[in-house]
Amino acid sequence: MTALSGWGRWPRHETEVLSPETPARAAAIQATADGVIARGNGRAYGDAAVGERITVSTRGLDRMRSFDPATGRLTAEGGVLLADVIAAFLPRGFFPPVVPGTKFVSLGGMIASDVHGKNHHRAGGFGDHVEEMLIALPGGDVVACSPERNADLFDATVGGMGLTGTILEATFRLMPVQTGWLRRRTIVADDLDDAIDALAASARSTYSVAWIDCLARGEALGRSLIYTAEHATEDDLDEADGTIAPFPDLPKRGFAVPFDAPGGMINRASVGAFNAVYYRRGAARAGPPELVGWDPFFFPLDSIGDWNRIYGSRGFLQHQCVIPAATAHAALGTILERISSGGRPSFLAVLKQLGPGRGPLSFPMEGFTLALDMPVTDDVEGLLGDVDRVVREAGGRIYLAKDARQSRETFEAGYPRLDAFRDVRRALDPDGRIASRLSRRLGL
Ligand SMILES: Cc1cc2nc3c(=O)[nH]c(=O)nc-3n(C[C@H](O)[C@H](O)[C@H](O)COP(=O)(O)OP(=O)(O)OC[C@H]3O[C@@H](n4cnc5c(N)ncnc54)[C@H](O)[C@@H]3O)c2cc1C
Repeated sequence: MTALSGWGRWPRHETEVLSPETPARAAAIQATADGVIARGNGRAYGDAAVGERITVSTRGLDRMRSFDPATGRLTAEGGVLLADVIAAFLPRGFFPPVVPGTKFVSLGGMIASDVHGKNHHRAGGFGDHVEEMLIALPGGDVVACSPERNADLFDATVGGMGLTGTILEATFRLMPVQTGWLRRRTIVADDLDDAIDALAASARSTYSVAWIDCLARGEALGRSLIYTAEHATEDDLDEADGTIAPFPDLPKRGFAVPFDAPGGMINRASVGAFNAVYYRRGAARAGPPELVGWDPFFFPLDSIGDWNRIYGSRGFLQHQCVIPAATAHAALGTILERISSGGRPSFLAVLKQLGPGRGPLSFPMEGFTLALDMPVTDDVEGLLGDVDRVVREAGGRIYLAKDARQSRETFEAGYPRLDAFRDVRRALDPDGRIASRLSRRLGL
């Protein structure tokens, strides 16, 4: 037995971990196991990838099966990491259609969480780009599904948090890019309303995201830097400086946090100092677009190994909600007000615009999503419980891939298509043999 957690390192649960090396072996485990869930690279923050009794690591399912350079169509096993896909195909002029904020995620994990990127408003979630999957169902049968074939299974698996079975293989299309650079523009927003309006006005940009100074208060509440970006063309590089190589070198692993920061490094003083400098430097870059490499643009946190240790040994929570556009200004203002006045700084506070979601359990809905990190403390639940209430009343929902603590009431209020998901799940797994700590906690 192993004590396993998600990326937030809280909560930890004892589970047996099995590591099949082939899809056939992974399917055989599904045939007999009870209280079992698949795990990719453990980047979900909470308890989604921890089995009630057994956790099946898919990291051994790491083969890329076929690629068609004419269409960008890639078929790969579910445990293949996004980082490996980018390393293999970006130098050939292809990039994934959707990427989350870290490249250290597996394809199975990206589908099971229907991950969104900075382009959700334009491109949808990762699940929208999947053309076919092979899934090992409870009972061990391996079934192919696509948006046309076994469509109920396909839809329930996209965003289904591993609860329909183990994704053994997936086929999706990479998109052609001329370079590995982005033309990034920085916009300064003086407060939250400005930030939301700037994101909405950037709807035609391929990528957009806002970094929020979550400690700013009063009239500056929600002051932000908005980043919008487009993939740079070869002409863009020539115009900027004829000597830039079209594809930057692949990143090397840099500094790693060597130990759990005692008592955590995240407090009002440290976050306040960081935010002031970050905002000032960012604001100075506002204006014409600048070239930024794909890795720092999409995956800024990946350059610091084990950064989840800076919150100390008790771990941390990420709270990510999405609020419909109509109620977003008021609800997000209330949430930021609670966070900033409670003196509980969030090291990371990110705002993005989302379009509609796909599967019945997919997180995205048309609106604005806010992600906040908080160290685990004795009283953090009081604050986050309040935030959950605001989310519920505004008609929003909380992202299961980040969640470790929301109540069933909040969850059920946020996912109106839950019954459709439960119907598919009951038909596939009448005895409820697939079970994660998250599914048991939320009665899924
Ligand atoms: C720094 C950071 C930034 C992030 N940014 C974003 C972001 O911008 N957008 C976003 O949407 N998410 C984001 N995430 C969350 C992350 O993308 C998701 O949690 C993703 O699911 C993690 O993939 P994983 O392979 O680590 O999966 P795990 O964490 O191991 O598992 C996550 C879920 O997927 C299921 N699963 C994993 N593999 C399989 C499989 N083969 N078959 C069936 N089910 C499977 C698990 O059961 C679990 O329910 C971020 C996470 C981090 C740490």
